[in-house]
Amino acid sequence: MPEGDTIFRTARTLGRALAGKLVTGFQSTYPKLTRCNDDTPLVGQTVERVESRGKWLLIHFSGGGTLATHMLMSGSWHIYRHGERWQQPRANMRIVIENNDYVAVGFRVPVAEMHTAQSLARNARIPGAATDVLSGAFDAAEAARRLVAHGDEEIADVLLDQKVMAGVGNVFKSETCFVAGVNPFCRVSALSGEQVRALIATAQKLIAANVLEDSGDGIVTYRGRKRRTTHESDPSASLWVYGRRGEPCRRCGEPVRRRLQGPDARVTFWCQRCQPMPDGSDVDG
Ligand SMILES: [Zn+2]
Repeated sequence: MPEGDTIFRTARTLGRALAGKLVTGFQSTYPKLTRCNDDTPLVGQTVERVESRGKWLLIHFSGGGTLATHMLMSGSWHIYRHGERWQQPRANMRIVIENNDYVAVGFRVPVAEMHTAQSLARNARIPGAATDVLSGAFDAAEAARRLVAHGDEEIADVLLDQKVMAGVGNVFKSETCFVAGVNPFCRVSALSGEQVRALIATAQKLIAANVLEDSGDGIVTYRGRKRRTTHESDPSASLWVYGRRGEPCRRCGEPVRRRLQGPDARVTFWCQRCQPMPDGSDVDG
């Protein structure tokens, strides 16, 4: 599952290739999309902008329609010049949007829906801009209010809830809890207001740092002594705890713990010493 920073970078790249340009070609293997296109052709419209909302990628067209795609595990968007060889087989193609300069191809994009402004605003699965940690419209105080409404749940699970705050995936979940010094298994009701604010600010900061122009593809939350600019063969080398079970905590040296958490049994990494439970109880890794 791509994290919010990945979708943000995809949206930025697609936006550079498509935004402000006239659509000269559209194809899809999804009958619903081709029917929408038959009713209101996209060719002749302009792509106004491309944005990410959590794990959704939205392409806004000048005719008022918005193509919303969700990548899940398998999907990706590629940009090609006309005539350039595709890096995936044609059979994986689901959506093609062309302009005079580029061909944008959505490969194995499993979820694709055409929306009006109204249906987009009403859609419960696509987060609003104020919910997205990477949006300029993100409202941290509102996010805190939504978060504390989940008092009975464990904080790491609530961080993954895209309706509370969109953009935090499983890697940032563990990293955010570590940097904020909060135990991922702590119930939300046991957190102080200060901890809630720190968690939200940390998630926002860590994810934003990963969408800078020079940030590369891997997630970096820990830079160690020297700034890493090259691709690491071991992705966990640039993280505080994620993927580092049994390795020494970068702050205290205690072995990092790992445990499956929540209804979806997502993997969680943490340091019991740096992230104690408020009541001092131990959480087995
Ligand atoms: Zn530690």
